[in-house]
Amino acid sequence: MTAVTRLPRDPGPAAWNEILPPPPETMRLENHCVSDWLVIGAGFAGLTAAFRLKEKHPHDRIVVLDAKQVASGPAGRNSGFMIDLPHDLASDDYGGGVTRDLETLQENRAAIAYAKKIAAQFDMPLWAFNPCGKINAAAGLNGHQHNLDFAHHLAELGEGFEIYDAEQMHSITGTHYYKSGLFTPGTIMLQPAAYIRSLAQGLRELGVEIYENSPVLTLNKKLTWTAKTPLGQVEAPRVILAVNGHANSFGHFKRRLVHVFTYASMTRALSEKEVKTLGGHKNWNATPADPLGTTVRRISDPSGDRIVIRNRATYDPKMTVTNRRLKSVSVTHNKSFAARFPMLRGVEMEYRWGGRLCLSRNNVAAFGEIDRDLYSACCQNGLGTAKGTLHGMLAADLASGIDSDLLQQVLSQDDPQKIPPEPFAWLGANVLMKWGERKAGREL
Ligand SMILES: Cc1cc2nc3c(=O)[nH]c(=O)nc-3n(C[C@H](O)[C@H](O)[C@H](O)COP(=O)(O)OP(=O)(O)OC[C@H]3O[C@@H](n4cnc5c(N)ncnc54)[C@H](O)[C@@H]3O)c2cc1C
Repeated sequence: MTAVTRLPRDPGPAAWNEILPPPPETMRLENHCVSDWLVIGAGFAGLTAAFRLKEKHPHDRIVVLDAKQVASGPAGRNSGFMIDLPHDLASDDYGGGVTRDLETLQENRAAIAYAKKIAAQFDMPLWAFNPCGKINAAAGLNGHQHNLDFAHHLAELGEGFEIYDAEQMHSITGTHYYKSGLFTPGTIMLQPAAYIRSLAQGLRELGVEIYENSPVLTLNKKLTWTAKTPLGQVEAPRVILAVNGHANSFGHFKRRLVHVFTYASMTRALSEKEVKTLGGHKNWNATPADPLGTTVRRISDPSGDRIVIRNRATYDPKMTVTNRRLKSVSVTHNKSFAARFPMLRGVEMEYRWGGRLCLSRNNVAAFGEIDRDLYSACCQNGLGTAKGTLHGMLAADLASGIDSDLLQQVLSQDDPQKIPPEPFAWLGANVLMKWGERKAGREL
């Protein structure tokens, strides 16, 4: 019997979920049901897998179980960048670098195209799913140079981009903090909780059963798979495991998944006067030119005008963090906010939270058939809005026997590499991240 060793614990509120109107009443699993399919996890990967299964097997019974309420986990905690481009682009094909970049682009774009189809089918508003592109913002000279190098590689690949100078960045963002920006058009900006809730609601209307607050406590195979929750159980011949890093809690990919938390803060809604003082566009978004820098979003949606910032990362192999950690990270958030928005002095953060990422050392997914009729769509390497969509879609295809070049491409990637034993992994990862944050300088 496989007993699940850990259940998800998310620090602080899922702000994107909190600023939406209250969700419909949640349904817990409280009986014994027999289904054609079971999907465990209702994040990007799990709900996309359920959507794909419904598309391919419209008459099958599909059950989704989540330990928490839909959109209260990492799916409602992320910064909402559904990105098409890899973080870094190789300068030559030595070791297959450029080939892999092109494959990543193709995979991310396939995921984005599928998410566009989902958004159109469920009539999502522009503020929840906006194909507006993103800016990689540079606050210092190193960041600026990084953007120029990245733009050079984009040109070689024939990809579109625009470089913004300091004045253009000021007119978009209202702040003089940024030296330059690299705009690329392929990113979708999500209100992540709105996207996930609307996908879940659409699935329910199609007949998919989604049970929330129904953690899987054991998962066993005899003739068929049986998942037990505190109040019920589901029997299904085929199961898709879409729990990201919690694949470890189900006993899979042991010592191969790296559990990292990252943190964000969201201001209260700005007053009209504050909006005027800030200036700039009503909606803009900036990833940092240094990977350990600060992500910023300015949003204007039915919840009001707000600023959201994200930075800091910590390696936490136990998959939990304390409230003290959240407090200590807030200090960095306040500094990053004050440095960028001195004109908004006195504007408080209404929400502060953290969330789990799952990475692998070699930047690959934990994907494929991991036991008979058990399929994994886990380990999104911090980019789960696109990667989770991709792996959910492809896990459903794999389980359904639907082949494609894209599926073969993902299946041909290596398995996640082993990580060093503790405490070496903990020490190594945290020292590296601390050093990286220091090196990020003004980008943090
Ligand atoms: C602050 C922050 C900012 C981020 N920004 C971005 C961004 O801009 N772009 C981007 O692409 N990614 C971003 N991410 C990462 C992104 O949120 C994740 O990669 C993504 O949510 C992973 O999707 P998933 O569906 O694989 O897993 P999850 O969203 O984690 O979903 C897995 C689900 O499984 C459920 N589960 C776990 N165990 C059980 C169990 N025993 N029984 C039942 N259910 C279970 C969990 O409750 C959860 O709902 C960010 C993350 C954070 C925290």
